[in-house]
Amino acid sequence: MPDHLFGRSTKGALPVAVRGEGCYLIDAAGKRYFDGSGGAAVSCLGHSDAGVRAALHDQLDRLAFAHTGFFTSEPAEALADRLIAHAPPGIDRVYLVSGGSEAVEAALKLARQYFMEIGQPQRHRVIARRQSYHGNTLGALAAGGNAWRRAQFAPLLVETSHIAPCYEYRDRAPGETVEAYGLRVADELEAEINRLGPETVMAFIAEPVVGATAGAVPAVPGYFRRIREICDQHGILLILDEVMCGMGRTGHLFACEEDGVAPDLITIAKGLGAGYQPIGALLTSGRIYDAVAAGSGFFQHGHTYMGHPMVAAAANAVLEAIVARGLLARVREQGARLQAALEAELGQHPHIGDIRGRGLFRGVELVADRETKAPFDPALKLHARVKALAFEAGLICYPMGGTIDGQRGDHILLAPPFIIEDAQIDELVSKLSGAIRGALAA
Ligand code: PMP
Repeated sequence: MPDHLFGRSTKGALPVAVRGEGCYLIDAAGKRYFDGSGGAAVSCLGHSDAGVRAALHDQLDRLAFAHTGFFTSEPAEALADRLIAHAPPGIDRVYLVSGGSEAVEAALKLARQYFMEIGQPQRHRVIARRQSYHGNTLGALAAGGNAWRRAQFAPLLVETSHIAPCYEYRDRAPGETVEAYGLRVADELEAEINRLGPETVMAFIAEPVVGATAGAVPAVPGYFRRIREICDQHGILLILDEVMCGMGRTGHLFACEEDGVAPDLITIAKGLGAGYQPIGALLTSGRIYDAVAAGSGFFQHGHTYMGHPMVAAAANAVLEAIVARGLLARVREQGARLQAALEAELGQHPHIGDIRGRGLFRGVELVADRETKAPFDPALKLHARVKALAFEAGLICYPMGGTIDGQRGDHILLAPPFIIEDAQIDELVSKLSGAIRGALAA
């Protein structure tokens, strides 16, 4: 192949994907790969869903594109209605974009414009968590706490404060109850707000279940309720980034349902288009939207492809499938099966520290020592070795050497399609186990 396109990986060895069939991707040589991570938690319906394909053909025959500066469209309006029908209390406005970073960028800008409109221009600061990823555009990258992604761009990034993540496996002290631990780390937000000056802070942003920096780490019960209280006490907006964990991945359309909180802004993407089209969305409340509408009249933001009819048509079909086919209940059931199968296969392994997650969003953490939880030397790049061996065996899993407050740790993220069958759970777990054992033996 000629070498004009550049992307994420150094090319050379990348196979050419030519077909998708249910939970499998097939390359040009005919090799089949089980998509154990949905790419990066994207392909929630698998790769050849008949309903989404039909919806896309139908939309293409009628209308491919109409610019939102001139028109709205039936699929975009229907998608907003559908999302709001399932959204947390108080959330009733939708802003459509083309991906996760764009959704986070829009959330940060809307938060800022809101405070300008209501006469609090001094509120501009964002607080986030050290173990987090919110996207790669400059605003979203500034919010994220992923040290290596930020490093070389640091002079371009808006200053953001980072507090501790809620990461029970690593940070709960011996003898500390789960509840006390959750409150202790949530209270770091209050301390940081007070340090910065509450009147200068506009938003706190967090992932309900951390994805790309540490495979599938949910907060402990009570953590987000305390975070909500602190934000309310200080008039700060709560942004929940559900780009990875939202749209059914945890067994609820919005992951924050399980945490018992409603944010002021929610970002979603990945599973919303399920890989059939690139889409993201920012959801917010009438309170915030109305303040902006009453002031400048509109949100000072926008992209050419927002609300694209083809993209919205795909997302409508995805949501329809999730709801009508009862896939949320299936995610909870198969997620519990996957967790049990991982525990049975790897739970006693001397180098598996933690197996966790919610629904079909699971993480496996590798450690050099189970007792001390010491991670492996990052130079070993164990996560990358697991990915390579799994890929060779025909399994796609998402590796990461996430930053844990300065330490490195190796994690494998699993996010298979919601249609995963029991036998495929066995296939996933046995291939993953083989790859982990092989990587540790090398
Ligand atoms: N937020 C979170 C929580 C994510 O996981 C990601 C992508 N991994 C993003 C934002 C950025 O999304 P995108 O890659 O679609 O820009």
